[in-house]
Amino acid sequence: MDKVMVLATGGTIAGIGEGGAYTSGQVGVNDLLKGIVPKGVEIESEQVANVGSQDMDSDIWFKLLERIYALSAREDIKGFVITHGTDTMEESAYFLHLSVQTHKPIVFTGAMRNSTSISPDGPMNLHNALAVCAHPESAGLGVLVAMDEGIFSARDVSKTHTSHLSAFKALNTGAIGHVYYGQVHFHAKPIQKHTLQSQLVLKGPTPLPKVAVVYTYVGCGDFLLNAALQAGVQGVVVAGMGNGNVNHTLLEVMAQAIKQGVVVVRSSRVGSGEVQLGEVDDMRHNFVRAGDLNPQKARVLLQLALLKTTNPQTIQEFFDTH
Ligand code: GLU
Repeated sequence: MDKVMVLATGGTIAGIGEGGAYTSGQVGVNDLLKGIVPKGVEIESEQVANVGSQDMDSDIWFKLLERIYALSAREDIKGFVITHGTDTMEESAYFLHLSVQTHKPIVFTGAMRNSTSISPDGPMNLHNALAVCAHPESAGLGVLVAMDEGIFSARDVSKTHTSHLSAFKALNTGAIGHVYYGQVHFHAKPIQKHTLQSQLVLKGPTPLPKVAVVYTYVGCGDFLLNAALQAGVQGVVVAGMGNGNVNHTLLEVMAQAIKQGVVVVRSSRVGSGEVQLGEVDDMRHNFVRAGDLNPQKARVLLQLALLKTTNPQTIQEFFDTH
C-alpha cells in the first residue's frame, strides 16, 4: 500500500472560529485526517509547526527540508503532503520546489475556510491532496499545490483572491491537472528545472540572504529602496509597474545599488504576464528580469541564487530556467 507522510504546519485548514473571525493553527494533524484518507492510501503524520502562514519563516522551511530528506530515505514513504496556511503557501511551495532534491511527490494543501465554519473546504482539499500524492504520475513533477480541485505546479501558482474557495490559480499557465473526489487527471508537466534538476538545491539549513521586495506606486520615489539598502540587503526585487517599470528617481537608486554590489531584480505588481526587455535598459544597468514570477516568488529564487553567486548574468539564467 502507498504510504504518504503528512507534514502539518498550521493555517486556516487547522483554524477554529466563527466564520471569518477565527484563529489559524489550532487543530492537530491527527484530527484533520479523521475520516478523509482515500481508500488504498496509508498515512503517517508529523506536526512540524502550527502557525498561521503569515508567521511562516525560514526556520520552518528548513525543518520541512530536513524532514523530507530524512524521510525520503524510507522506501515505504511514497511522498509528502504538507498542510499550510494559504497566505504564503506559494512561497513555501516554491522554496521546496527549488531546494529539495527528491523525485518523491510533495503536495501542498490548505483551506480558505476554517475547520469549524459551515462547509469547510479543508477536508476535501486534504483528501484530494493525499490522492494526488499517491498517484503514480505525481512523482518527478516537483512540488505541487492541490486546492479546490486544481493541481498546480508550485512555480506557477499564486493566491489570487482573499476569500474565494477558488483563490489559487496559475494565471500565466493554468493548472497542470485536476482532482475530483480523489480521481486524479494530469494534462501537463512543469518544464522549468526543479527538485532533481534544480541548480539551487540545498543539503540542509543555511542562513538565507537578506532580500527585500520594494513596491512601486504613483509618486513612490526612492525612500523604500534607500531604507532597504541601509538595512544591508544583498538583493532587491522591485515590484514595478506594468512591464516592471519604475520612475526616474527610483531607477537612479536601482542603478547605484548595482554599483554597490546589490542584485536588483525587476518584477511586476500586475500579478500576471511577464517582465521582459522594454522601457528599462537592463543590459546597461545589469538588472535581472523576473520573467513571469511574481515579486514574492522572485524573492525566493533570488535568495537561493545569491547563495551561489552575485553575478547578474548567472542569476538571470536561473530566472530563465527555474
Ligand atoms: N492567515 C491564514 C494563513 O495563511 C489564513 C489563510 C489560510 O490558511 O487560508 O494561515
